Amino acid sequence: MEILRIPLIAQDSCKKHLQRGRSLGFVPTMGALHEGHLNLVKRAKMENDVTIVSIFLNPLQFGPSEDLDKYPRDVDEDIKKLRQEDIDILFLPDNNLMYPKSFSTHIEVGALSEKLCGKFRPGHFKGVATVVSKLFNIIKPTRAYFGQKDFQQTVIIKRMARDLNFDIDIIICPTIREHDGLAMSSRNAYLDMEQRSTARILYQCLNNASEAVKTGAASGETIREMMRQTLLSEPLISQIDYASAYDPETLEEADEIKGDVLLAAAVRIGNTRLIDNILLLR
Ligand code: AMP
Repeated sequence: MEILRIPLIAQDSCKKHLQRGRSLGFVPTMGALHEGHLNLVKRAKMENDVTIVSIFLNPLQFGPSEDLDKYPRDVDEDIKKLRQEDIDILFLPDNNLMYPKSFSTHIEVGALSEKLCGKFRPGHFKGVATVVSKLFNIIKPTRAYFGQKDFQQTVIIKRMARDLNFDIDIIICPTIREHDGLAMSSRNAYLDMEQRSTARILYQCLNNASEAVKTGAASGETIREMMRQTLLSEPLISQIDYASAYDPETLEEADEIKGDVLLAAAVRIGNTRLIDNILLLR
């Protein structure tokens, strides 16, 4: 596994693989790798000649009062895990090479970025779209792999790739969960034992809503109310940012449940923000 820290060198190395006719599978991450990340890596490896993973804790996507400073970091452990997966290139860029002082260009994906998490994390998706487009231009992958856990992110990246003519297949992989259903996340490490035990309510709430939709619930209001009641039953949930049914393409809240539906929620347990979703394709 090559570890490359300089964008120009990574770009050159990836270009050489492309020139030799190899397909490049790319998995962008912020590190603190878990099975959710590694599942993307395995899929990328299976479908491509060369597998590249990036670890970059992108400051642009964190708000001033968010958890950039305490975000879990363990690069040595991450390197071990990636060596075990036998990937080809780990791109581990320095912040000042990604964002030199003169840096002044940003990508905004419009209305999709204002919905769901966007309402509570202003500027977050602008930071995500900007870093992902930089990474795409450095690596020039054939295929890039993202997790459904961050559903809004997948919608935004797909839209960006279409709008800006990135010639890259965007591949969405299922959410990997702990035994009790909690979606794996680097942020789960913030939870103490009691909070961790409470956290499984998030997936239970989505599952209950999913059952209700499958058995004929037709009103968005009914689903919303049901989800809120489930979440409110847990005193350790300090805030519900959102919990509802949405159109999976426009991310608009659904008044009427018909066709495909995204059930999604974001809550805070203590200071830890957790998100999850279930997509029902009908
Ligand atoms: P992050 O390091 O949190 O930026 O995540 C990097 C990639 O891993 C993103 O595409 C995430 O959606 C994906 N990911 C994170 N957690 C999971 C999970 N539990 N299951 C599947 N994919 C995940």
